[in-house]
Amino acid sequence: MSDTIAKLEHQLQILQAELRQREYEIDLLRETATAVGSELNLDKVLQLIAERARELIDAETLLIPILNRECDEYTYRAGAGRGVEEIVGESLPLDFGVCGWVWEHKRPWWRGMLDELSEAEKNRWEKEAGTLIMVPLIGREHFLGGIAGINKRGGEEFSRQDLNLLSLFASQVAIAIENAMAVHRLDQAREEAETYQNELQQLNSRLQATNQELEFLSLYDPLTALPNRSLLRDRIQQGLAAAQRDGGGLAVLVIDLDRFKEINDALGHEVGDQLLKQVSNRFAAELRHSDTIGRLGGDEFAVVLAPAETQAVTRVANALLEALATPFIIGSHRLAVTASIGIALYPEHGEDAGTLFQHADAAMYAAKRDRCSVGFYNSEVEENSLGRLTLVSDLRHALNESEFELYYQPKLDLASNNIIGVEALARWPHRKRGLVMPDSFIPALEQTGLIQQFNFWVLDAALEQCAAWQARGWSLGVAVNLPVTSLLDPNFVGELAQRLERWELWDKLTLEITENLFLSDYDRLTEVFGQLRDLGVNFSIDDFGTGHSSLSRLRQLPVSELKIDRSFVMGMAQNADDATIVRSTIDLAHNLGHAVVAEGVENDSILQQLKQLDCDIIQGYHISRPLPVAEFEAFVEDAAWPIARPQEQHLGFLKPG
Ligand code: C2E
Ligand code: CA
Ligand code: CA
Repeated sequence: MSDTIAKLEHQLQILQAELRQREYEIDLLRETATAVGSELNLDKVLQLIAERARELIDAETLLIPILNRECDEYTYRAGAGRGVEEIVGESLPLDFGVCGWVWEHKRPWWRGMLDELSEAEKNRWEKEAGTLIMVPLIGREHFLGGIAGINKRGGEEFSRQDLNLLSLFASQVAIAIENAMAVHRLDQAREEAETYQNELQQLNSRLQATNQELEFLSLYDPLTALPNRSLLRDRIQQGLAAAQRDGGGLAVLVIDLDRFKEINDALGHEVGDQLLKQVSNRFAAELRHSDTIGRLGGDEFAVVLAPAETQAVTRVANALLEALATPFIIGSHRLAVTASIGIALYPEHGEDAGTLFQHADAAMYAAKRDRCSVGFYNSEVEENSLGRLTLVSDLRHALNESEFELYYQPKLDLASNNIIGVEALARWPHRKRGLVMPDSFIPALEQTGLIQQFNFWVLDAALEQCAAWQARGWSLGVAVNLPVTSLLDPNFVGELAQRLERWELWDKLTLEITENLFLSDYDRLTEVFGQLRDLGVNFSIDDFGTGHSSLSRLRQLPVSELKIDRSFVMGMAQNADDATIVRSTIDLAHNLGHAVVAEGVENDSILQQLKQLDCDIIQGYHISRPLPVAEFEAFVEDAAWPIARPQEQHLGFLKPG
């Protein structure tokens, strides 16, 4: 009897223990359900579930694989217990492992499953998944993933009861997971929307900046930040409207820098750009707030002044020129810059922006041509400006048809009283305009890019003529004018060498280069000078005294003569300064071992003065004007000054001492 009681008591104890276990499990489930239900953060929800599930089935490790949105992979999103750090976060292909089996069959897995499998499958899964338990997580709308336990603690196997508990647990938490996922997705969408909005905002502000830039570019010159032609035109129109309303006036000034192209070509665009900036700053500093200054392009500026009395406008124009008087310092260069200004007034010279611009432009060209730095528009100017336009197409034609002609002006050696050579000077006999002088067409040739073709024409004509005189027994050197940029052209040396060979003229050719050559790339210049010197070419520094010299460089180049600019020679008689310049130039040249040529000798008194100063060679109207070939030959045969006989050849000589 006591036996039976003891047995019953024992059974009761077991039942009570089981009951406590059930109560505990139910508490755990209920508690988990509330905890999970009140949490919306997906990661936290999953972590909580992992921990509670592990307790529930007493697993060593618990993992929560979740299918990704595209359902082509699953990822261990949370875990609890041994070794989870290595697994959580890992993504695997959909069909991989026991999970793959669960996804496919939408059924839980546990050891008891093995009995339902075929022998082959059983062998495979027994090894792989004998200690595994896994239930699917199925939400209201989606298949979400699963809960997997690995190894029961204490070495037992997972029981059917574990399976039931876990399945119950899974069905309870699946909804919570689904909700949290929805919230998560909502958050993601919100975040995406925010980034998208940010990007949109950034794009918008970039667009705005670009628009402003475009607007700026369309109205302002990027280099100097001054208004461009369009904005200037607009300002003129505004000014005109105001002037018409108040009965006032308006002035348009077009300013063009002299010889800017030379500086640009010789020193490079970088220096040219710097110069333009500095020039624009100096101009701007001379103007009132109500005036507008802008850049038309290249080295052309324009100023709009209102109201405009002739006198006041002239004052402003002079102030602008005065602002350039101090040389510009750019890097190691010291640049003297001058400008020409053309002015058109409203209402006298035009009533709209286009006409005023055009007329100021024409006045500027006239001023440049006449070498007077400021000029107002007048109708005579217009004729010339029309002429300038046709000139360009005429020039091309003239080059192709060889319409140009060389005149020759003799050079007299003062010591021997012999004619030792000539300077070839180009002329353009024009059907309508008569004889056009080089000062009008050389700049146009340079601007239109025809100058190099022209140079070679001059060289050909001059060398051919020189050879003809040679054949006649006249030993005359011939000097040809050449812009330094042409000299530095990569093909120049080769082309010239061919010509010298063809005419068999050695040591007869002199190239007259203006002093501004010292602005050029000096290394390249030295190289070219050396190569040409080896071909027997002589160099003469033309217009000496007017440009930018560097004595140390002058000393290093193989130069044979300096040509004192005619403005000093012509001024010698009246102007003491000019006389001093001529005297010191002669001394300087002799010290450097160069011969001196004085050009612009118009009378005998200057000739005598130069002789006294020990000048070597003279050239000028007093000996002869530049003459066409036939007249030059007649002049020579007249023999007022004989031609040097070959052995007395002096051109290019070096004065001793
Ligand atoms: P340049 O090289 O200084 O030439 C001397 C200029 O002075 C010539 O003017 C000549 O006619 C002038 N002249 C000569 N003797 C006297 C004188 O006693 N009194 C006065 N008042 N003037 C005198 P031109 O022929 O009008 O040439 C002007 C400039 O045009 C030249 O100055 C030269 O720089 C350029 N040039 C002329 N022919 C050519 C050429 O074939 N090629 C190039 N690139 N430039 C040329
Ligand atoms: Ca010359
Ligand atoms: Ca000259």
